[in-house]
Amino acid sequence: MTGPRIVIVGGVAGGAGAATRARRMNEAAEIIIFEKGEHISLATCGLPYYIGGQIADRGKLLVSTPAEFADRYRIDVHTGHEVTRIDRQARRVEVLDVRTGRRSLVDYDRLILAPGAAPIVPDWEGIDSKNLFTLRDLADTDRIKAYVDRHKPVRAVVIGGGYIGIEMSEVLTGRGVAVTLVEAQPQVMPLMDSEMAARIETVLRASGVDVRTGQGVRNLVVRDALVRAVRLADGEEVAADMVMVAVGVRPNVELARQAGLKIGPSGGIAVDGQMQTSDPNIFAVGDAAEVTHLVAGGPMLVPLAGPANRNGRLAGQRAATGDAPLATPVAGTAIVGFFGQAAAITGLSVHAVRRAGMDCAAVYAIGGHHAGYYPGAEQLVLKLVFDPKSRRVLGAQAVGGAGVDKRIDVIATALRFQATIDDLAGLDLAYAPQFGAAKDPIHIAAFVAQNQADALVRQILPGDPAPAGQLLDVRSEAEVARGTLAGAVNIPLPRLRQNLSRLDRNKPVVVFCGAGMRGYIASRILTQSGFAEVWNLTGGYTMHKDTWSQTLARSGG
Ligand SMILES: Cc1cc2nc3c(=O)[nH]c(=O)nc-3n(C[C@H](O)[C@H](O)[C@H](O)COP(=O)(O)OP(=O)(O)OC[C@H]3O[C@@H](n4cnc5c(N)ncnc54)[C@H](O)[C@@H]3O)c2cc1C
Repeated sequence: MTGPRIVIVGGVAGGAGAATRARRMNEAAEIIIFEKGEHISLATCGLPYYIGGQIADRGKLLVSTPAEFADRYRIDVHTGHEVTRIDRQARRVEVLDVRTGRRSLVDYDRLILAPGAAPIVPDWEGIDSKNLFTLRDLADTDRIKAYVDRHKPVRAVVIGGGYIGIEMSEVLTGRGVAVTLVEAQPQVMPLMDSEMAARIETVLRASGVDVRTGQGVRNLVVRDALVRAVRLADGEEVAADMVMVAVGVRPNVELARQAGLKIGPSGGIAVDGQMQTSDPNIFAVGDAAEVTHLVAGGPMLVPLAGPANRNGRLAGQRAATGDAPLATPVAGTAIVGFFGQAAAITGLSVHAVRRAGMDCAAVYAIGGHHAGYYPGAEQLVLKLVFDPKSRRVLGAQAVGGAGVDKRIDVIATALRFQATIDDLAGLDLAYAPQFGAAKDPIHIAAFVAQNQADALVRQILPGDPAPAGQLLDVRSEAEVARGTLAGAVNIPLPRLRQNLSRLDRNKPVVVFCGAGMRGYIASRILTQSGFAEVWNLTGGYTMHKDTWSQTLARSGG
Protein backbone atom coordinates (compact mmCIF):
# COMPACT_ATOMS: atom_id res chain seq x y z
CA MET A 1 0.00 0.00 0.00
CA THR A 2 1.61 3.28 -0.99
CA GLY A 3 0.02 6.66 -0.54
CA PRO A 4 1.21 10.25 -0.54
CA ARG A 5 3.85 11.32 1.92
CA ILE A 6 2.35 14.15 3.93
CA VAL A 7 4.78 16.27 5.89
CA ILE A 8 3.38 18.59 8.55
CA VAL A 9 5.21 21.54 10.08
CA GLY A 10 4.00 22.14 13.64
CA GLY A 11 2.28 19.59 15.83
CA VAL A 12 -0.12 21.51 18.04
CA ALA A 13 -3.65 22.70 17.21
CA GLY A 14 -3.68 22.89 13.41
CA GLY A 15 -0.88 20.39 12.71
CA ALA A 16 -2.03 17.61 15.04
CA GLY A 17 -5.62 17.84 13.76
CA ALA A 18 -4.44 17.77 10.15
CA ALA A 19 -2.31 14.68 10.80
CA THR A 20 -5.01 12.59 12.47
CA ARG A 21 -7.67 13.49 9.91
CA ALA A 22 -5.24 12.64 7.12
CA ARG A 23 -4.72 9.22 8.65
CA ARG A 24 -8.44 8.55 9.06
CA MET A 25 -8.99 9.49 5.43
CA ASN A 26 -6.05 7.60 3.96
CA GLU A 27 -4.62 4.52 5.63
CA ALA A 28 -1.95 4.30 2.93
CA ALA A 29 -0.49 7.76 3.44
CA GLU A 30 2.85 8.25 5.11
CA ILE A 31 2.42 11.04 7.64
CA ILE A 32 5.29 12.82 9.33
CA ILE A 33 5.04 15.70 11.83
CA PHE A 34 8.02 17.94 12.55
CA GLU A 35 7.58 19.94 15.73
CA LYS A 36 10.42 22.16 16.85
CA GLY A 37 9.22 22.22 20.45
CA GLU A 38 9.22 19.31 22.86
CA HIS A 39 5.53 18.49 22.72
CA ILE A 40 2.68 17.96 20.33
CA SER A 41 -1.06 18.37 20.99
CA LEU A 42 -0.48 20.87 23.76
CA ALA A 43 -3.53 22.43 25.45
CA THR A 44 -2.25 25.96 24.84
CA CYS A 45 -5.48 27.58 26.00
CA GLY A 46 -5.08 25.93 29.40
CA LEU A 47 -1.55 27.21 30.07
CA PRO A 48 -2.56 30.23 32.18
CA TYR A 49 -4.61 27.97 34.42
CA TYR A 50 -1.71 25.68 35.18
CA ILE A 51 0.22 28.74 36.37
CA GLY A 52 -2.85 29.73 38.41
CA GLY A 53 -3.21 26.27 39.93
CA GLN A 54 -6.70 25.58 38.59
CA ILE A 55 -5.12 22.80 36.52
CA ALA A 56 -2.96 21.01 39.06
CA ASP A 57 -1.53 18.24 36.89
CA ARG A 58 0.93 19.43 34.24
CA GLY A 59 0.41 16.17 32.35
CA LYS A 60 -3.20 17.16 31.63
CA LEU A 61 -1.88 19.90 29.33
CA LEU A 62 -0.47 17.25 27.01
CA VAL A 63 -3.58 16.08 25.24
CA SER A 64 -1.68 13.49 23.27
CA THR A 65 1.89 12.23 22.87
CA PRO A 66 4.13 11.10 20.01
CA ALA A 67 3.77 7.50 21.26
CA GLU A 68 -0.03 7.74 21.06
CA PHE A 69 0.23 9.22 17.57
CA ALA A 70 2.43 6.29 16.56
CA ASP A 71 0.24 3.59 18.15
CA ARG A 72 -3.18 4.85 17.26
CA TYR A 73 -2.53 6.64 13.99
CA ARG A 74 0.78 5.36 12.66
CA ILE A 75 1.97 8.95 12.48
CA ASP A 76 5.69 9.57 12.68
CA VAL A 77 6.28 12.46 15.10
CA HIS A 78 9.64 14.18 15.41
CA THR A 79 9.71 16.66 18.26
CA GLY A 80 12.74 18.89 18.60
CA HIS A 81 12.88 19.13 14.80
CA GLU A 82 12.53 22.46 13.07
CA VAL A 83 11.76 22.76 9.37
CA THR A 84 14.15 25.45 8.18
CA ARG A 85 13.60 25.58 4.42
CA ILE A 86 11.19 24.47 1.74
CA ASP A 87 12.43 23.53 -1.72
CA ARG A 88 9.22 23.65 -3.73
CA GLN A 89 10.81 22.48 -6.98
CA ALA A 90 12.23 19.34 -5.42
CA ARG A 91 9.28 19.02 -3.00
CA ARG A 92 11.65 18.68 -0.14
CA VAL A 93 12.11 20.30 3.26
CA GLU A 94 15.27 20.86 5.21
CA VAL A 95 14.94 19.77 8.84
CA LEU A 96 17.15 20.79 11.76
CA ASP A 97 17.44 18.47 14.75
CA VAL A 98 17.57 21.16 17.41
CA ARG A 99 19.25 18.85 19.93
CA THR A 100 22.14 17.68 17.73
CA GLY A 101 22.31 20.51 15.21
CA ARG A 102 22.17 17.94 12.39
CA ARG A 103 20.35 18.86 9.21
CA SER A 104 18.55 16.48 6.87
CA LEU A 105 16.37 16.64 3.77
CA VAL A 106 12.92 15.08 3.66
CA ASP A 107 10.80 14.69 0.52
CA TYR A 108 7.07 15.34 0.54
CA ASP A 109 4.14 14.89 -1.79
CA ARG A 110 1.97 17.27 0.23
CA LEU A 111 3.16 19.74 2.82
CA ILE A 112 0.94 21.25 5.53
CA LEU A 113 2.19 24.36 7.27
CA ALA A 114 0.85 24.84 10.80
CA PRO A 115 3.67 26.81 12.45
CA GLY A 116 1.37 29.05 14.49
CA ALA A 117 2.27 32.53 15.65
CA ALA A 118 4.84 34.05 17.95
CA PRO A 119 4.27 36.62 20.68
CA ILE A 120 5.18 40.14 19.60
CA VAL A 121 8.23 41.18 21.58
CA PRO A 122 8.78 44.94 21.58
CA ASP A 123 12.22 46.29 21.03
CA TRP A 124 12.72 47.58 24.61
CA GLU A 125 16.03 47.59 26.37
CA GLY A 126 15.90 44.89 29.03
CA ILE A 127 13.34 42.82 27.16
CA ASP A 128 15.44 39.68 27.77
CA SER A 129 15.45 40.14 31.56
CA LYS A 130 14.85 36.97 33.55
CA ASN A 131 11.74 38.33 35.22
CA LEU A 132 10.05 39.36 31.94
CA PHE A 133 7.89 36.77 30.22
CA THR A 134 5.76 36.03 27.20
CA LEU A 135 3.43 33.03 27.14
CA ARG A 136 3.05 30.74 24.15
CA ASP A 137 4.16 27.22 25.01
CA LEU A 138 4.88 24.87 27.86
CA ALA A 139 8.47 26.06 28.25
CA ASP A 140 7.19 29.64 28.80
CA THR A 141 4.60 28.28 31.21
CA ASP A 142 7.18 26.37 33.23
CA ARG A 143 9.38 29.46 33.45
CA ILE A 144 6.55 31.68 34.67
CA LYS A 145 5.24 29.14 37.16
CA ALA A 146 8.71 28.44 38.53
CA TYR A 147 9.36 32.16 38.91
CA VAL A 148 6.11 32.76 40.78
CA ASP A 149 6.58 29.63 42.94
CA ARG A 150 10.18 30.43 43.83
CA HIS A 151 10.38 34.19 43.99
CA LYS A 152 6.87 34.94 45.23
CA PRO A 153 6.67 38.29 43.41
CA VAL A 154 4.66 40.96 45.18
CA ARG A 155 3.94 43.17 42.14
CA ALA A 156 3.51 42.34 38.49
CA VAL A 157 2.95 44.52 35.46
CA VAL A 158 0.98 42.84 32.70
CA ILE A 159 1.43 44.70 29.41
CA GLY A 160 -1.44 44.20 26.98
CA GLY A 161 -5.16 44.11 27.73
CA GLY A 162 -6.20 41.41 25.26
CA TYR A 163 -7.46 38.05 26.41
CA ILE A 164 -4.07 36.65 27.43
CA GLY A 165 -3.29 39.81 29.43
CA ILE A 166 -6.67 39.62 31.15
CA GLU A 167 -6.31 35.90 31.90
CA MET A 168 -2.81 36.42 33.30
CA SER A 169 -4.05 39.35 35.42
CA GLU A 170 -6.61 37.07 37.00
CA VAL A 171 -4.17 34.19 37.41
CA LEU A 172 -1.43 36.30 39.02
CA THR A 173 -3.94 38.06 41.28
CA GLY A 174 -5.09 34.61 42.38
CA ARG A 175 -1.47 33.76 43.19
CA GLY A 176 -1.33 36.74 45.54
CA VAL A 177 0.49 39.12 43.18
CA ALA A 178 -0.68 42.76 42.95
CA VAL A 179 -1.23 43.33 39.22
CA THR A 180 -1.11 46.49 37.16
CA LEU A 181 -2.56 45.92 33.69
CA VAL A 182 -1.22 48.38 31.11
CA GLU A 183 -2.93 48.84 27.76
CA ALA A 184 -1.89 51.39 25.13
CA GLN A 185 -5.37 51.55 23.57
CA PRO A 186 -8.04 53.54 25.40
CA GLN A 187 -9.72 50.26 26.42
CA VAL A 188 -9.01 46.62 27.18
CA MET A 189 -10.19 43.97 24.67
CA PRO A 190 -9.85 46.30 21.67
CA LEU A 191 -12.03 44.02 19.52
CA MET A 192 -15.05 44.93 21.62
CA ASP A 193 -16.87 48.26 21.71
CA SER A 194 -15.59 50.63 24.35
CA GLU A 195 -18.66 50.67 26.60
CA MET A 196 -18.61 46.86 26.75
CA ALA A 197 -14.88 46.85 27.47
CA ALA A 198 -15.52 49.40 30.23
CA ARG A 199 -17.62 46.77 31.99
CA ILE A 200 -14.65 44.39 31.93
CA GLU A 201 -12.40 47.10 33.35
CA THR A 202 -14.88 47.73 36.18
CA VAL A 203 -14.75 44.07 37.19
CA LEU A 204 -10.96 43.94 36.93
CA ARG A 205 -10.61 47.03 39.14
CA ALA A 206 -13.14 45.70 41.66
CA SER A 207 -11.06 42.51 41.80
CA GLY A 208 -7.89 44.41 42.66
CA VAL A 209 -6.26 44.85 39.24
CA ASP A 210 -4.90 48.35 38.70
CA VAL A 211 -6.01 48.95 35.09
CA ARG A 212 -4.16 51.65 33.12
CA THR A 213 -5.68 52.15 29.68
CA GLY A 214 -4.48 54.66 27.09
CA GLN A 215 -0.98 54.16 28.49
CA GLY A 216 1.81 52.91 26.29
CA VAL A 217 5.11 51.76 27.74
CA ARG A 218 7.97 54.22 27.37
CA ASN A 219 10.68 51.91 28.67
CA LEU A 220 11.63 49.26 31.18
CA VAL A 221 13.60 50.26 34.24
CA VAL A 222 16.27 47.57 34.56
CA ARG A 223 18.79 47.04 37.34
CA ASP A 224 21.08 44.02 37.83
CA ALA A 225 19.55 42.29 34.80
CA LEU A 226 16.05 42.42 36.28
CA VAL A 227 13.16 44.70 35.37
CA ARG A 228 12.39 46.77 38.46
CA ALA A 229 9.69 49.00 37.02
CA VAL A 230 7.80 49.82 33.85
CA ARG A 231 7.84 53.48 32.85
CA LEU A 232 4.56 54.49 31.24
CA ALA A 233 4.11 57.00 28.45
CA ASP A 234 3.21 59.74 30.95
CA GLY A 235 6.48 59.15 32.81
CA GLU A 236 5.04 57.30 35.79
CA GLU A 237 7.10 54.33 36.98
CA VAL A 238 5.13 51.28 38.02
CA ALA A 239 7.25 49.05 40.24
CA ALA A 240 7.39 45.40 39.20
CA ASP A 241 8.89 42.17 40.49
CA MET A 242 7.85 40.52 37.24
CA VAL A 243 6.52 41.63 33.86
CA MET A 244 4.26 39.79 31.43
CA VAL A 245 4.22 41.02 27.85
CA ALA A 246 1.04 40.05 26.02
CA VAL A 247 0.75 42.59 23.22
CA GLY A 248 -0.42 40.27 20.48
CA VAL A 249 1.01 37.68 18.13
CA ARG A 250 2.66 37.70 14.73
CA PRO A 251 2.03 34.83 12.28
CA ASN A 252 5.04 32.59 11.64
CA VAL A 253 5.28 33.12 7.89
CA GLU A 254 9.06 33.28 7.32
CA LEU A 255 9.31 29.72 6.04
CA ALA A 256 6.44 30.34 3.60
CA ARG A 257 7.81 33.71 2.55
CA GLN A 258 11.27 32.30 1.84
CA ALA A 259 9.66 29.57 -0.27
CA GLY A 260 7.92 32.26 -2.32
CA LEU A 261 4.40 31.37 -1.17
CA LYS A 262 1.90 34.19 -1.42
CA ILE A 263 1.43 36.21 1.76
CA GLY A 264 -2.00 37.82 1.99
CA PRO A 265 -2.94 41.42 2.79
CA SER A 266 -3.32 40.68 6.50
CA GLY A 267 0.23 39.30 6.72
CA GLY A 268 -0.79 35.64 6.98
CA ILE A 269 -0.20 32.89 4.42
CA ALA A 270 -2.82 33.29 1.67
CA VAL A 271 -4.98 30.20 1.20
CA ASP A 272 -8.05 29.24 -0.81
CA GLY A 273 -11.23 27.73 0.62
CA GLN A 274 -9.54 24.34 1.01
CA MET A 275 -6.46 25.73 2.76
CA GLN A 276 -4.32 25.47 -0.37
CA THR A 277 -1.54 28.04 -0.62
CA SER A 278 -0.29 29.51 -3.90
CA ASP A 279 1.48 26.14 -4.38
CA PRO A 280 -1.02 23.31 -5.06
CA ASN A 281 1.03 20.85 -2.98
CA ILE A 282 1.27 23.06 0.09
CA PHE A 283 -1.50 23.87 2.56
CA ALA A 284 -1.50 26.24 5.51
CA VAL A 285 -3.71 26.47 8.60
CA GLY A 286 -3.98 28.01 12.03
CA ASP A 287 -2.51 31.24 13.33
CA ALA A 288 -0.08 31.47 10.39
CA ALA A 289 -2.77 31.40 7.70
CA GLU A 290 -5.49 33.82 6.69
CA VAL A 291 -9.17 33.00 7.04
CA THR A 292 -12.16 34.62 5.38
CA HIS A 293 -14.25 36.67 7.74
CA LEU A 294 -17.89 35.62 7.81
CA VAL A 295 -19.31 39.13 8.08
CA ALA A 296 -16.61 41.46 6.74
CA GLY A 297 -15.85 39.07 3.88
CA GLY A 298 -12.15 39.83 3.48
CA PRO A 299 -9.14 37.73 4.39
CA MET A 300 -7.84 38.28 7.89
CA LEU A 301 -5.95 36.76 10.77
CA VAL A 302 -8.04 35.20 13.54
CA PRO A 303 -5.45 33.56 15.80
CA LEU A 304 -7.78 31.31 17.78
CA ALA A 305 -7.92 27.61 18.49
CA GLY A 306 -11.29 26.92 16.85
CA PRO A 307 -10.38 27.93 13.29
CA ALA A 308 -6.94 26.25 13.66
CA ASN A 309 -8.52 22.93 14.66
CA ARG A 310 -11.33 22.98 12.11
CA ASN A 311 -9.18 24.09 9.21
CA GLY A 312 -6.41 21.68 10.23
CA ARG A 313 -8.92 18.89 9.81
CA LEU A 314 -9.84 20.13 6.32
CA ALA A 315 -6.21 20.51 5.27
CA GLY A 316 -5.49 16.98 6.47
CA GLN A 317 -8.36 15.63 4.41
CA ARG A 318 -7.37 17.64 1.35
CA ALA A 319 -3.76 16.49 1.57
CA ALA A 320 -4.79 12.87 2.07
CA THR A 321 -7.51 12.60 -0.55
CA GLY A 322 -7.14 15.52 -2.93
CA ASP A 323 -10.46 17.00 -1.88
CA ALA A 324 -12.22 18.43 1.17
CA PRO A 325 -15.29 20.50 1.98
CA LEU A 326 -14.84 24.26 1.74
CA ALA A 327 -13.78 25.95 4.95
CA THR A 328 -16.53 27.91 6.65
CA PRO A 329 -15.76 31.61 6.99
CA VAL A 330 -14.85 32.63 10.51
CA ALA A 331 -16.93 34.97 12.69
CA GLY A 332 -14.08 35.61 15.14
CA THR A 333 -16.12 34.23 18.02
CA ALA A 334 -14.08 34.54 21.20
CA ILE A 335 -14.59 34.49 24.96
CA VAL A 336 -12.48 35.40 27.97
CA GLY A 337 -13.13 34.63 31.62
CA PHE A 338 -12.04 36.85 34.52
CA PHE A 339 -12.90 36.76 38.21
CA GLY A 340 -16.11 34.78 37.74
CA GLN A 341 -17.26 36.91 34.81
CA ALA A 342 -17.04 36.45 31.06
CA ALA A 343 -16.83 38.67 28.00
CA ALA A 344 -17.46 37.35 24.51
CA ILE A 345 -17.81 38.58 20.96
CA THR A 346 -18.90 37.20 17.62
CA GLY A 347 -18.95 38.95 14.25
CA LEU A 348 -18.31 42.67 14.07
CA SER A 349 -18.44 45.38 16.72
CA VAL A 350 -19.98 48.76 15.97
CA HIS A 351 -16.55 50.34 15.68
CA ALA A 352 -15.40 47.61 13.25
CA VAL A 353 -18.47 48.16 11.04
CA ARG A 354 -17.99 51.93 11.08
CA ARG A 355 -14.27 51.62 10.41
CA ALA A 356 -15.16 49.60 7.32
CA GLY A 357 -17.23 52.59 6.19
CA MET A 358 -20.54 50.81 6.66
CA ASP A 359 -23.55 51.77 8.70
CA CYS A 360 -25.13 49.75 11.48
CA ALA A 361 -27.35 50.01 14.51
CA ALA A 362 -26.98 48.36 17.88
CA VAL A 363 -29.17 47.65 20.88
CA TYR A 364 -28.77 46.12 24.33
CA ALA A 365 -30.58 43.55 26.38
CA ILE A 366 -29.70 43.94 30.04
CA GLY A 367 -30.97 41.48 32.60
CA GLY A 368 -30.59 38.14 34.31
CA HIS A 369 -29.18 35.10 32.55
CA HIS A 370 -32.31 33.25 33.62
CA ALA A 371 -35.75 34.19 34.97
CA GLY A 372 -35.37 36.74 37.75
CA TYR A 373 -37.83 35.00 40.06
CA TYR A 374 -35.69 31.86 40.19
CA PRO A 375 -32.78 32.29 42.62
CA GLY A 376 -29.29 32.83 41.33
CA ALA A 377 -29.87 34.88 38.17
CA GLU A 378 -26.63 36.63 37.18
CA GLN A 379 -26.63 39.95 35.35
CA LEU A 380 -25.50 40.10 31.74
CA VAL A 381 -25.37 42.81 29.09
CA LEU A 382 -25.91 41.62 25.54
CA LYS A 383 -25.23 43.99 22.65
CA LEU A 384 -26.63 43.12 19.24
CA VAL A 385 -25.18 44.80 16.12
CA PHE A 386 -27.30 44.75 12.97
CA ASP A 387 -27.93 46.42 9.64
CA PRO A 388 -31.19 48.36 10.05
CA LYS A 389 -31.93 48.24 6.31
CA SER A 390 -31.32 44.58 5.46
CA ARG A 391 -32.07 43.63 9.10
CA ARG A 392 -29.09 41.24 8.96
CA VAL A 393 -27.32 40.46 12.21
CA LEU A 394 -23.70 41.66 12.02
CA GLY A 395 -22.39 40.72 15.44
CA ALA A 396 -22.89 40.53 19.17
CA GLN A 397 -20.99 41.10 22.38
CA ALA A 398 -21.84 40.08 25.92
CA VAL A 399 -20.34 40.74 29.33
CA GLY A 400 -21.63 39.26 32.56
CA GLY A 401 -21.75 36.26 34.84
CA ALA A 402 -23.28 32.99 33.74
CA GLY A 403 -24.86 32.59 30.31
CA VAL A 404 -22.55 34.82 28.25
CA ASP A 405 -21.19 31.84 26.30
CA LYS A 406 -24.65 30.52 25.45
CA ARG A 407 -25.93 33.83 24.03
CA ILE A 408 -22.82 34.44 21.96
CA ASP A 409 -22.76 30.88 20.64
CA VAL A 410 -26.42 31.07 19.60
CA ILE A 411 -25.79 34.33 17.78
CA ALA A 412 -22.58 32.95 16.23
CA THR A 413 -24.69 30.12 14.85
CA ALA A 414 -27.26 32.58 13.57
CA LEU A 415 -24.51 34.63 11.90
CA ARG A 416 -23.33 31.51 10.09
CA PHE A 417 -26.73 31.24 8.47
CA GLN A 418 -26.95 34.97 7.70
CA ALA A 419 -29.82 35.42 10.13
CA THR A 420 -31.83 38.61 10.42
CA ILE A 421 -33.06 40.19 13.63
CA ASP A 422 -36.45 38.67 12.78
CA ASP A 423 -34.90 35.21 12.72
CA LEU A 424 -33.43 35.85 16.16
CA ALA A 425 -36.75 37.12 17.49
CA GLY A 426 -38.36 33.84 16.47
CA LEU A 427 -35.70 31.41 17.75
CA ASP A 428 -37.19 28.53 19.68
CA LEU A 429 -34.75 28.31 22.60
CA ALA A 430 -34.80 25.88 25.52
CA TYR A 431 -36.46 27.37 28.58
CA ALA A 432 -37.11 26.50 32.19
CA PRO A 433 -36.63 29.17 34.88
CA GLN A 434 -33.25 27.89 36.07
CA PHE A 435 -31.84 27.97 32.52
CA GLY A 436 -33.25 30.99 30.72
CA ALA A 437 -36.34 33.06 30.23
CA ALA A 438 -39.38 32.66 28.03
CA LYS A 439 -38.13 35.86 26.46
CA ASP A 440 -34.40 35.19 26.49
CA PRO A 441 -31.94 38.13 26.36
CA ILE A 442 -31.44 37.13 22.71
CA HIS A 443 -35.16 37.60 22.03
CA ILE A 444 -35.23 40.88 23.95
CA ALA A 445 -32.29 42.23 21.96
CA ALA A 446 -33.98 41.11 18.72
CA PHE A 447 -37.31 42.71 19.73
CA VAL A 448 -35.57 46.00 20.52
CA ALA A 449 -33.76 45.81 17.19
CA GLN A 450 -37.04 45.13 15.36
CA ASN A 451 -38.66 48.11 17.09
CA GLN A 452 -35.82 50.29 15.90
CA ALA A 453 -35.77 48.88 12.35
CA ASP A 454 -39.55 49.30 12.17
CA ALA A 455 -39.16 52.98 13.23
CA LEU A 456 -41.21 52.46 16.40
CA VAL A 457 -38.36 54.09 18.27
CA ARG A 458 -35.25 56.08 17.47
CA GLN A 459 -32.26 55.13 19.56
CA ILE A 460 -28.95 56.69 20.50
CA LEU A 461 -25.85 54.59 21.22
CA PRO A 462 -23.46 55.52 24.06
CA GLY A 463 -21.12 58.29 22.96
CA ASP A 464 -23.05 59.10 19.78
CA PRO A 465 -24.41 62.65 19.38
CA ALA A 466 -27.90 63.38 20.72
CA PRO A 467 -30.21 66.10 19.37
CA ALA A 468 -30.36 69.28 21.42
CA GLY A 469 -33.65 69.54 23.27
CA GLN A 470 -35.08 68.02 26.42
CA LEU A 471 -33.51 65.15 28.34
CA LEU A 472 -36.10 63.10 30.20
CA ASP A 473 -35.29 60.56 32.94
CA VAL A 474 -38.33 58.30 33.46
CA ARG A 475 -36.89 56.30 36.35
CA SER A 476 -38.23 56.49 39.90
CA GLU A 477 -37.15 59.29 42.24
CA ALA A 478 -35.22 56.75 44.32
CA GLU A 479 -33.20 55.68 41.29
CA VAL A 480 -32.56 59.29 40.26
CA ALA A 481 -31.31 60.05 43.77
CA ARG A 482 -28.48 57.58 43.13
CA GLY A 483 -27.39 59.50 40.03
CA THR A 484 -28.66 60.78 36.70
CA LEU A 485 -27.35 62.34 33.47
CA ALA A 486 -26.41 66.03 33.41
CA GLY A 487 -29.34 68.17 32.27
CA ALA A 488 -32.10 65.58 32.80
CA VAL A 489 -35.59 66.36 34.13
CA ASN A 490 -37.26 63.53 35.99
CA ILE A 491 -40.82 62.40 35.31
CA PRO A 492 -41.22 58.79 36.48
CA LEU A 493 -42.89 56.65 33.85
CA PRO A 494 -46.11 55.95 35.82
CA ARG A 495 -46.76 59.74 35.97
CA LEU A 496 -45.70 60.61 32.42
CA ARG A 497 -49.16 60.67 30.79
CA GLN A 498 -50.42 63.18 33.37
CA ASN A 499 -47.36 65.42 33.01
CA LEU A 500 -46.93 65.75 29.26
CA SER A 501 -47.57 69.51 29.54
CA ARG A 502 -44.22 69.87 31.32
CA LEU A 503 -42.52 69.02 28.02
CA ASP A 504 -42.32 71.04 24.79
CA ARG A 505 -43.89 69.00 21.95
CA ASN A 506 -41.99 70.93 19.32
CA LYS A 507 -38.53 70.25 20.64
CA PRO A 508 -36.72 66.90 20.48
CA VAL A 509 -37.06 64.77 23.62
CA VAL A 510 -34.31 62.32 24.55
CA VAL A 511 -35.68 59.73 26.99
CA PHE A 512 -33.86 57.27 29.19
CA CYS A 513 -34.48 54.85 32.03
CA GLY A 514 -32.27 52.26 33.74
CA ALA A 515 -31.74 49.77 30.93
CA GLY A 516 -33.93 50.89 28.00
CA MET A 517 -37.34 49.26 28.47
CA ARG A 518 -39.15 52.05 30.35
CA GLY A 519 -37.49 54.57 28.05
CA TYR A 520 -38.97 52.72 25.10
CA ILE A 521 -42.44 52.72 26.67
CA ALA A 522 -42.10 56.46 27.36
CA SER A 523 -40.95 57.02 23.76
CA ARG A 524 -44.09 55.29 22.50
CA ILE A 525 -46.30 57.41 24.79
CA LEU A 526 -44.64 60.62 23.63
CA THR A 527 -44.62 59.70 19.93
CA GLN A 528 -48.30 58.77 20.00
CA SER A 529 -49.09 61.96 21.93
CA GLY A 530 -47.85 64.14 19.11
CA PHE A 531 -44.27 64.87 20.15
CA ALA A 532 -42.34 65.74 17.00
CA GLU A 533 -39.03 64.05 17.67
CA VAL A 534 -38.43 61.43 20.35
CA TRP A 535 -35.24 59.47 20.99
CA ASN A 536 -34.42 56.72 23.46
CA LEU A 537 -30.97 56.13 24.94
CA THR A 538 -30.54 52.44 24.18
CA GLY A 539 -29.29 50.59 27.24
CA GLY A 540 -30.43 53.51 29.40
CA TYR A 541 -28.50 54.97 32.31
CA THR A 542 -26.56 51.69 32.70
CA MET A 543 -24.87 52.07 29.34
CA HIS A 544 -24.77 55.88 29.00
CA LYS A 545 -23.66 57.10 32.41
CA ASP A 546 -19.95 56.78 31.62
CA THR A 547 -20.17 58.21 28.11
CA TRP A 548 -22.67 61.04 28.57
CA SER A 549 -20.00 63.75 28.62
CA GLN A 550 -18.74 62.37 25.29
CA THR A 551 -22.32 62.47 23.91
CA LEU A 552 -22.67 66.09 25.01
CA ALA A 553 -19.32 67.04 23.49
CA ARG A 554 -20.26 65.40 20.19
CA SER A 555 -23.68 67.03 20.25
CA GLY A 556 -22.13 70.44 20.73
CA GLY A 557 -23.94 70.61 24.07
C1 LIG B 1 -1.79 31.44 26.62
C2 LIG B 1 -2.72 31.23 25.45
C3 LIG B 1 -4.05 31.04 25.70
C4 LIG B 1 -4.93 30.84 24.61
N1 LIG B 1 -6.25 30.67 24.89
C5 LIG B 1 -7.10 30.48 23.85
C6 LIG B 1 -8.49 30.28 24.10
O1 LIG B 1 -8.93 30.25 25.25
N2 LIG B 1 -9.30 30.14 23.02
C7 LIG B 1 -8.83 30.15 21.74
O2 LIG B 1 -9.61 29.99 20.79
N3 LIG B 1 -7.53 30.33 21.49
C8 LIG B 1 -6.65 30.49 22.50
N4 LIG B 1 -5.32 30.64 22.23
C9 LIG B 1 -4.87 30.64 20.84
C10 LIG B 1 -4.65 29.22 20.34
O3 LIG B 1 -3.83 28.54 21.23
C11 LIG B 1 -4.01 29.30 18.97
O4 LIG B 1 -4.87 29.99 18.11
C12 LIG B 1 -3.75 27.91 18.40
O5 LIG B 1 -2.89 27.19 19.21
C13 LIG B 1 -3.15 28.04 16.99
O6 LIG B 1 -2.86 26.80 16.50
P1 LIG B 1 -1.68 26.60 15.44
O7 LIG B 1 -1.62 25.15 15.15
O8 LIG B 1 -1.82 27.54 14.34
O9 LIG B 1 -0.38 27.07 16.22
P2 LIG B 1 0.27 26.48 17.53
O10 LIG B 1 -0.73 25.81 18.37
O11 LIG B 1 1.08 27.58 18.11
O12 LIG B 1 1.26 25.37 16.99
C14 LIG B 1 2.31 25.71 16.14
C15 LIG B 1 3.48 24.78 16.43
O13 LIG B 1 4.35 24.85 15.35
C16 LIG B 1 5.67 24.73 15.83
N5 LIG B 1 6.56 25.28 14.80
C17 LIG B 1 6.65 26.56 14.38
N6 LIG B 1 7.53 26.69 13.38
C18 LIG B 1 8.03 25.44 13.18
C19 LIG B 1 8.99 24.93 12.29
N7 LIG B 1 9.59 25.70 11.39
N8 LIG B 1 9.28 23.62 12.35
C20 LIG B 1 8.65 22.81 13.23
N9 LIG B 1 7.75 23.24 14.10
C21 LIG B 1 7.42 24.55 14.07
C22 LIG B 1 5.65 25.51 17.11
O14 LIG B 1 6.68 25.09 17.97
C23 LIG B 1 4.27 25.20 17.66
O15 LIG B 1 4.29 24.15 18.59
C24 LIG B 1 -4.43 30.83 23.29
C25 LIG B 1 -3.07 31.02 23.05
C26 LIG B 1 -2.21 31.22 24.12
C27 LIG B 1 -0.76 31.42 23.85
